[in-house]
Amino acid sequence: MKRLKGIPVSPGFVIGKAFVLHSEDSFSVARQTITRDDIPKQIAHFEDALTRTRAEILGVRKHIASQIGREHSDIFNAHLLILEDRTLIEDVIGLIKSENCNAEYAFANVIQKYFQAFLQIDDDYLRERISDIKDVGRRVLQNLYGAEKGVLEKLKENVIIIAHDLSPSDTAMMDKTKVLAFVTEIGGPTSHTAILGQSMEIPAIVGVDQGTIEVKNGDRVIVDGTHGFLIIDPDQKTIEEYTREEKRFTELVTELEKLRDLPAETTDGRKIILASNIEFPDEIPSVISHGAEGIGLYRTEYFYMSRGDLPTEDEQFHAYKLVVERMSPHSTIVRTLDLGGDKFVSTLDVPHEMNPFLGWRAIRFCLTREDIFKTQLRAILRASAFGDLKVMYPMISNVDELRSANAILDACKGELRVEKIKFNEKIQVGAMIEIPSAAITSDILAEEVEFFSIGSNDLIQYSLAVDRVNEKIAYLYEPTHPAILRLIKSVIESGHRKKLPVGICGEMSGDPGVAVLLVGLEIDEISTSPAMLPKVKRAIRAVSFKEAKKIAQRALEFSTGSEVRDFLIAKLKSIASDLIPE
Ligand code: PEP
Ligand code: MG
Repeated sequence: MKRLKGIPVSPGFVIGKAFVLHSEDSFSVARQTITRDDIPKQIAHFEDALTRTRAEILGVRKHIASQIGREHSDIFNAHLLILEDRTLIEDVIGLIKSENCNAEYAFANVIQKYFQAFLQIDDDYLRERISDIKDVGRRVLQNLYGAEKGVLEKLKENVIIIAHDLSPSDTAMMDKTKVLAFVTEIGGPTSHTAILGQSMEIPAIVGVDQGTIEVKNGDRVIVDGTHGFLIIDPDQKTIEEYTREEKRFTELVTELEKLRDLPAETTDGRKIILASNIEFPDEIPSVISHGAEGIGLYRTEYFYMSRGDLPTEDEQFHAYKLVVERMSPHSTIVRTLDLGGDKFVSTLDVPHEMNPFLGWRAIRFCLTREDIFKTQLRAILRASAFGDLKVMYPMISNVDELRSANAILDACKGELRVEKIKFNEKIQVGAMIEIPSAAITSDILAEEVEFFSIGSNDLIQYSLAVDRVNEKIAYLYEPTHPAILRLIKSVIESGHRKKLPVGICGEMSGDPGVAVLLVGLEIDEISTSPAMLPKVKRAIRAVSFKEAKKIAQRALEFSTGSEVRDFLIAKLKSIASDLIPE
């Protein structure tokens, strides 16, 4: 038995079979022992990957030569030379034969020896060739694993997915009915895997160290998404312990279901709107069954991600209409396209950037690709005729962006009027407050919109300079950092001064202890993953507004994030002890 620690991002416990999804970005590959009879098959598999990689490189070289110029395509000649290197090929085949191992393992091993050899070379030019070797290596591994990726679409049994990383495109095609839990080596508390785990209501942990390489397909593992453990090959005592934990967890979930139709109201009558974040319309049944009073964040970019072309205005209109109608009489906040950061769309040719989280993303992208933006805004406007639909812009950093976005929205309204297509003339417009400059100038932004929604996932990332998907610095990603609390307080206050409702839709609001603090700061709406709602509601219904205000006031006096966190846990224990995991 082996226990590995990671970051818990979606609660719950599960025991099941591992399905290991390899990554071409990581050259640490699990070794599989093969029989002597399988050696020719593995060699053929390797040669086939080489042939496919060669065809790919020739294709890219041709494309670059015709689009940018011959001199820029020379680099690919170097790639072909690496690919055709006889010593490399013979070393890999030699290793498959001598070690009786799989082609992926043999190739990764040999290529790593090449990296080491190049690192020792005392010549800057040659040392730089290491990135070429990596590039070719990644392509070959991708082709070696090619067959495996497709397997995610046709999983034959229930499995626990274990991967270096899971990209939105990996998960988009996944047969989600067969996935029991997620475990990844990289990623932070608000990465894609975390959000997906929560929305699927299955346990998930991220940032588990390299030990995952020891897990083999079919191994029995336990995922403890509440405390962040991956247990490989558990002994009988541990299995029994976790079976009990699983039962206790299910009992709490069942108990909390009873609150479904009750309002999120403090004991002295202050009501908070408890809404849900969604990525896909098919989450609506879960949103409704968890008693959400609306959609506080519809992340529409997922619409663009799981496909090879761009969604048309009509397609988007039907999806938004479906959501707003199903959620009626509650409201739905549709966030416009928030691409970039860790969310990419292959059809959109967004160039690779050094700092994607600080780059050409979200509203910045939409304001330069007006064609794509207008298609979406028209669809949103058309859907607004069918219920209480609001529109919200992501990544606003200054008031000019808000004014430009509103001008484009006005232009779309003008077009629809001319075309005599109905929409809600009074559609409410909001801004996400997720960049420190927006939080600090929220009094100015308040002049241009009708509501604010605090995007704490990004607000924490940008305020604390902590990449939200980097597991190495996840310990610095502190939602309760005094800087974050002060920013949230000031955004709520400046919104309220202008009579704007202020909500929050980042993952921190799904923590019941933090939710009590937010209530004390006079937040109007909390939107989080559907599965988190019952606990948040339980906490809100167990505290008075007066007490929540006192808790908020005291929390703001601490000097560190961990002091605030410990204080909130202690408070939650006295308010609703059943919500504290053992
Ligand atoms: C946020 O940044 O807090 C947010 C809710 O949006 P996303 O996680 O999609 O960036
Ligand atoms: Mg964000």
